[in-house]
Amino acid sequence: MTTTLPPGSTVGIIGGGQLGRMLAMAAARLGYRTVVLDPQPDCPAAQTTNHQIVAAYDDPQALVELSGRCDVATYEFENVPVAAAEKLAKDLAVLPPPLALERAQDRLIEKTFLNDIGVETAPYRAVDSDADLASGLAGFGGNGVLKTRRLGYDGKGQIVFRNLAGNSADGAFAQMGNVPLILEGLIPFVMEISVIAARGRDGSMAAFDIVQNVHRDGILATSTVPAAVSETVAEAAKSAAFRVLEALDYAGVIGVEFFVLEDGGLLANEFAPRVHNSGHWTEAACAVSQFDQHVRAVCGLPLGDAARHSDCVMENLIGGDVDRMPEILGQSNAVLHLYGKMETRPGRKMGHVTRLSPR
Ligand code: AMP
Repeated sequence: MTTTLPPGSTVGIIGGGQLGRMLAMAAARLGYRTVVLDPQPDCPAAQTTNHQIVAAYDDPQALVELSGRCDVATYEFENVPVAAAEKLAKDLAVLPPPLALERAQDRLIEKTFLNDIGVETAPYRAVDSDADLASGLAGFGGNGVLKTRRLGYDGKGQIVFRNLAGNSADGAFAQMGNVPLILEGLIPFVMEISVIAARGRDGSMAAFDIVQNVHRDGILATSTVPAAVSETVAEAAKSAAFRVLEALDYAGVIGVEFFVLEDGGLLANEFAPRVHNSGHWTEAACAVSQFDQHVRAVCGLPLGDAARHSDCVMENLIGGDVDRMPEILGQSNAVLHLYGKMETRPGRKMGHVTRLSPR
């Protein structure tokens, strides 16, 4: 039998960034209370949650307090320490399950898992020395993307190699910090897309429409819906996302990113076991947003209809982009959302705007 948490119950959220902020708002709309665990006192979610526990994510006392204060726990970033999630899971449901964190935190484990369940990725090699890198690059014709296995995001901790010969990559292992690395084949993709999908506690699944993403300097710049892909490609991407959800016995929203090849083939790049930046458009273009959907899923409510009522382009407001607020406020089709961050810094996500157009 599926557990359904009645309104008035409390959802614990590990992480208090903008995703936690928007999850707390969605939970409130459905009549739930929230408690956020984040070490930073005035984090974006602190302004929208009922209560914040100010402590490190793996602080044992804070985890005891969190489990005492909430009826289900979830998280808004994939680098939640797995041990902390597992400890919490002894006392209450932690959704998505800690296994999803474990699979997503290490790019080598993630890609192996995806391939094992029949979801294709770029070819890859583990790299633990310059010698591994040289032989890997030779295997990929001198082209590749070198990434840290853990704790990389928004293109940070990556080196791209093109047409490299011999040992000219020597020193890269040290340059990347002497940590475990992965070398991926350099994919000549024609487009990047993502799927925002959800699985309920009862096993039902739903996916929002496919999103076409453009990254700038490794950071998501825009998400456009609908993506310019065929129905076949769209269905293949959704079915790959569903396969991931089922393999992890998942509950909650997931974001799965893909490269689209010239022939329409798909290679999964990575998945995020949480609500995703490329799903922010859903708050403006769907009756049920990805945040609503996540709260529904982890609280055991029925999933909402993921259909969109409008086409749209979501633009991230990064750093000084937020100074364009007066102009955006004057645009009649623009849905603006700011994250309450007091300090503007280059590369920092300050908010987003979704511009709607009729379908
Ligand atoms: P990631 O940190 O894996 O999300 O990578 C950030 C961005 O770098 C991606 O959105 C792509 O634009 C690019 N990228 C990552 N991996 C590859 C790859 N194997 N081949 C080509 N481009 C890549």
